[in-house]
Amino acid sequence: MRLVFLGKQVAKYIFVTGGVVSSIGKGITTASLGRILRSRGFTVAPLKLDPYINVDAGTMNPYQHGEVFVTEDGAETDLDLGHYERFMDVNCSEGSSVTTGKIYSSVIAAERRGDYLGGTVQVIPHVTNEIKRRIVDVGAQQEADVVIAEIGGTVGDIESLPFLEAIRQMRNDAGPENVMYVHVTLVPTVGPWSEVKTKPTQHSVERLRAIGIAPDLLICRCDVDMPDDVREKISLFCGVQKKAVIESRTAATIYEVPLRYEDDGLGDLTVARLGLESRASNLHEWATLVDTLKNPERSVRIAVVGKYTSNGDAYKSIHEALIHAGIPSKSAVEMVWIESDALEQGRPPQEFLDGVDGLIVAPGFGGRGIEGKIEAIQFARETGLPFLGICLGLQMAVIEFARNVCGLVGANSEEMLPNPAYPVIHLLPEQKGVTDKGATMRLGSYDCNLVNGTLAHQLYGSNRISERHRHRYEVNNDFREKLQEMGMVISGVSPDYRLVEMVELTEHPYFIATQAHPEFKSRPNRPAPLFTGLVKAAVERKAAVGV
Ligand code: GLN
Repeated sequence: MRLVFLGKQVAKYIFVTGGVVSSIGKGITTASLGRILRSRGFTVAPLKLDPYINVDAGTMNPYQHGEVFVTEDGAETDLDLGHYERFMDVNCSEGSSVTTGKIYSSVIAAERRGDYLGGTVQVIPHVTNEIKRRIVDVGAQQEADVVIAEIGGTVGDIESLPFLEAIRQMRNDAGPENVMYVHVTLVPTVGPWSEVKTKPTQHSVERLRAIGIAPDLLICRCDVDMPDDVREKISLFCGVQKKAVIESRTAATIYEVPLRYEDDGLGDLTVARLGLESRASNLHEWATLVDTLKNPERSVRIAVVGKYTSNGDAYKSIHEALIHAGIPSKSAVEMVWIESDALEQGRPPQEFLDGVDGLIVAPGFGGRGIEGKIEAIQFARETGLPFLGICLGLQMAVIEFARNVCGLVGANSEEMLPNPAYPVIHLLPEQKGVTDKGATMRLGSYDCNLVNGTLAHQLYGSNRISERHRHRYEVNNDFREKLQEMGMVISGVSPDYRLVEMVELTEHPYFIATQAHPEFKSRPNRPAPLFTGLVKAAVERKAAVGV
């Protein structure tokens, strides 16, 4: 019988914090730990606790914060949820992402309702209770054996203090045997002899202990093999068993990290610490995937045209989906990131696209760089370069076709120009009058019917698919007939026929675009069909061109 806490069954809880510097790999560690537990047959509910005040990541610029990841139920979340889904092969939901913004919104709404009537509303206990409620809820809703919660930011940040206080309290609330703290830290090397330094880790753990959290396990990011005496020192100074000081070297592929952690005993340590049933681990399928990724038989180059290409995280799911798509044909996918602005500076597209085997035009918002995207698409259409358009990429493909094939000079999207000569892309009717920017787009999973005999149908092998969305604009149905008459195939439509979901060209080796974001559902063991199709077409093109 499990304990009951806040009216819900208590799961086991793992809290992952980070120290010394940000971007240290907490997300991959959390995801890998989840993979390890899933491979032992446990149900895992991942959770990201983000200390920022935005209610969700939907309003954040990808330059600053990386990609906005969209869940099945339409939450706009932190990109780490993408790692959780891809590694653990689970679907996250709105409840899997908790922010300071969400916590305060609930607490303030409750105060206004009079839920705390007479009381002074404070960080402890009101804010911390709300955080704990959400942690317990996500486990209960998903009937999870284990909840793995990653706390964003770095220990020592002012804004993460309420979250750290809440997870500290959880040890008592849920019982110490049910709570485990994992701290990811940096062990740098300095000087001409690359001396390995433990002091930053000691300081970081000290800070955590000052808050009342003693880590059970340390994951040490280190770029060299960590000498045994260094592990011993960290163990001694940080009060963590030596076998629980785990080294984390930068891996050839992030997908290798769970295998390394399992080899280093992370699975056994976690199971023992939390008193979970001891079960055999089955990472065979995962190991095979990693082996394919590490030993490709061929390679292709895919160009991705977007407007945030200088931030490597801005198109994270597209990056991962391309890697997954190479697995079936044992192909390494090399990505060439092209800033769409650059294509607008008078240089012809072939200067950028010569030598690539395929093209993706990425999702995006606003007018900057769209003419560059349109030029790249025209080049792909006219030269037979395999092409996949995603969301804005579909909209730009339709504009390009309208202008250059249908002769609709001045065709554009209402998003880019208030009154274009031919508004081939216009606002979704239900978006009219929407003024709030947060969580108001057409978001989450929607069904789409695929037309028999089309490329889309062949790739998915089904008439009815479901993909995730994030957009406000759509193909204007007034132009459907004209586009079709001139050879654009509308291969996917919403079940009510109202919305164009997918278009393609037949007289082309691979030209397909979707209003959805298939990258969000791609998993290493289940690559997204439109991406697999692109990589396959790129492999064929490369073989035909003989480069
Ligand atoms: N800006 C476009 C829209 O809102 C495309 C969005 C996207 O690419 N995600 O419809």
